[in-house]
Amino acid sequence: MADDIRKFSLMKITDTSRPERFFPLFSSVSNLVGVGPKATKSLQNLGVTRIRDLLFFLPVGGIVRIKTSNILSIVLPAFVTIEVIVNSHHQSTRNGPVRVLVNCSGVDLELVFFHARLDWIKSILPINETKVISGKLESFVSGLQIVHPDYIVGTTDLETVPDFEPVYPLSKGLSQKILIKIISQATGRNILFEEWINKSVIKSHQWLSFQKSVSLAHRPKNISEVQPKNLARERLAFDELFAHQISLALARKQYRKTKGISIKSSGLFANQIRRALPFSLTEAQDKAICHIKKDLMSDLRMNRLLQGDVGSGKTLVALMTILTVVEFGGQACLLAPTEILARQHYDTIIEITKIIKVNILLLTGRDKGSLRCNKLDQIESGSAKIIIGTHALFQESVVYKNLLFAVIDEQHRFGVRQRMELGNKGPNVDVLVMTATPIPRSLSLTYYGDMDISILYEKPKNRMPIKTAVMSDNRIKSILDRLEKALCNNRRVYWVCPLIEDSEVLALTSAEYRFDILKERFPTKNIGLVHGQMSVDEKDEVMRMFADGEISLLVSTTVIEVGVDVPSASIMIIEGAERFGLAQLHQLRGRVGRGSDQSSCILIYSGNLGKNSKARLEILRDTEDGFKISEEDLRIRGAGDVLGIQQSGLPQFLVANLETQNNLLEIARDDARLLLDTDPNLTSERGRAVRELLYLMDLQRSLQYIKVG
Ligand code: ADP
Ligand code: MG
Repeated sequence: MADDIRKFSLMKITDTSRPERFFPLFSSVSNLVGVGPKATKSLQNLGVTRIRDLLFFLPVGGIVRIKTSNILSIVLPAFVTIEVIVNSHHQSTRNGPVRVLVNCSGVDLELVFFHARLDWIKSILPINETKVISGKLESFVSGLQIVHPDYIVGTTDLETVPDFEPVYPLSKGLSQKILIKIISQATGRNILFEEWINKSVIKSHQWLSFQKSVSLAHRPKNISEVQPKNLARERLAFDELFAHQISLALARKQYRKTKGISIKSSGLFANQIRRALPFSLTEAQDKAICHIKKDLMSDLRMNRLLQGDVGSGKTLVALMTILTVVEFGGQACLLAPTEILARQHYDTIIEITKIIKVNILLLTGRDKGSLRCNKLDQIESGSAKIIIGTHALFQESVVYKNLLFAVIDEQHRFGVRQRMELGNKGPNVDVLVMTATPIPRSLSLTYYGDMDISILYEKPKNRMPIKTAVMSDNRIKSILDRLEKALCNNRRVYWVCPLIEDSEVLALTSAEYRFDILKERFPTKNIGLVHGQMSVDEKDEVMRMFADGEISLLVSTTVIEVGVDVPSASIMIIEGAERFGLAQLHQLRGRVGRGSDQSSCILIYSGNLGKNSKARLEILRDTEDGFKISEEDLRIRGAGDVLGIQQSGLPQFLVANLETQNNLLEIARDDARLLLDTDPNLTSERGRAVRELLYLMDLQRSLQYIKVG
């Protein structure tokens, strides 16, 4: 009850708009018969707190109960429903198990009950009576056994034993039987809805109504009905995806609402730069630049994602389009996730743009006092045209004269909220986010469904493939010997360790430990160490020394993962590689192979690696295609881990499976956009049904984007 009151008051603050008729469905599971505090807690552990949650809490499997009179013909163990005659009862010690000897068409077997009272067992299974038993039949040395039969009924009640039963995920304190009872109450409380799915989509898939689909999804009649392809489940998955796509489309519409300024230029600056570059842009870079310029020119706000594998040359795409804005007379900013990266962008861009006159400014958390004041003045007065920096760029104290374009690099390091915050620095800011995390198409639709996407699908032609090897750490000696040769040939090498502090628990080699060992092994070489706990100044200094060749071997933690560009580095060694995600390893490896030297990467794993884990690392050996790697990563680890769901804000679906129900996602996206084109305020009959869907799916927040209707 107290829970309910709390929930109710919460409801008042956060979802005032959910209509009253939803309240019973959204009340606590503790309102159901047989759900006391203990069961409530257990359900909570399963992510179920409200009655509505149970509707979407679907079976993950099922039990087939074979009705038979010939148990010898069955492959064991198996769930069987059989008729038996009770022969005798035994209990060898007072608290020992009760064993009941029974006979099924001439075959003896034993029913076993732990913690049971002999009297009670005798009363439900009297000697010489015939009973129907259903349970898991197993074969032990002592003979055939069923431990704790699920059903014991009289022969006239044979039909009450189901041939097929759904199996739900359990947590401590719940049993299948209890859960099935609770869920059947919940589905009984389901309310009636008008159809929110497009009629033709419903028809072509032969889906049933939401109510019917919920009931059927919880009452599968055979194992194929608990598969994702089952019509009832498919429909519910679609409902989830569709609701999500509607909410993204609403956000997108809101975001794109007129900015009114159309930014264009003659392209003078960009052309000058282009001519001065020692290489020509790739076709993919040109196309992306073209997309972005179109967005800038349009008087709708840009909300575009530039996706390009490591080393595909995103920085130049950003710069070329930033110059359009500068030439137009506006300000543009480039946001990087780390100081190292911000400084590097700054240096690169200063170097490339030295042939034209443009005031470029670097602003990071490091700027203090009068220096900072001076920089803020330049931004506010508008004399600074290109502002490069870290998240310091969107602090309150930073006021822009006329910020028109914001580029966010390595987007996955920033939340959606920050993306929006920067967009708020000017009423008309066009936003381009860039990411090197290749996201499988299925995920990108879910995560970035509100954005337009450009992809750098090729890398600059001058790149040589990176040779990748997977090696056990017991070959460290030969790895070090090879490393020595490489260092003598003036190669520059990254050595990445997964953790900075010694942790015996994880048994990961710390960077400091490795640093000491390498110094001892190569006393005449200049070895550097960089890790996240160093001050920014220290980090920058070490990186600079590495870039300039004053350091030839750089030991680091994963701080170098994102974006850092030292083209002359050509060897990457990653220790404890089995501990990283594939996408992360791919990012790390992308730090080499940026120049014209043949580059190599050694993935060192520790201990005895299982076959699967090794196969995982070998994917990396076999391909440099970030998309392929991320598809594999998705397949192996599931959507949740690929992006790090919690930080990424990627929705977790209850029914929909992004790996297997990809096709539904596209239909949902298209239908959501179509509906909002014809009924932007969701006021039609179907529009109103879609509003209800949003309430049902906890997405009613996105209704704030449209007028009350
Ligand atoms: P990322 O997409 O990983 O951010 P960068 O923008 O850092 O990649 O580019 C990686 C390297 O490739 C840089 O040294 C850059 O100067 C170079 N580069 C960019 N475009 C081209 C091109 N078209 N041809 C050759 N080199 C290029
Ligand atoms: Mg980059």
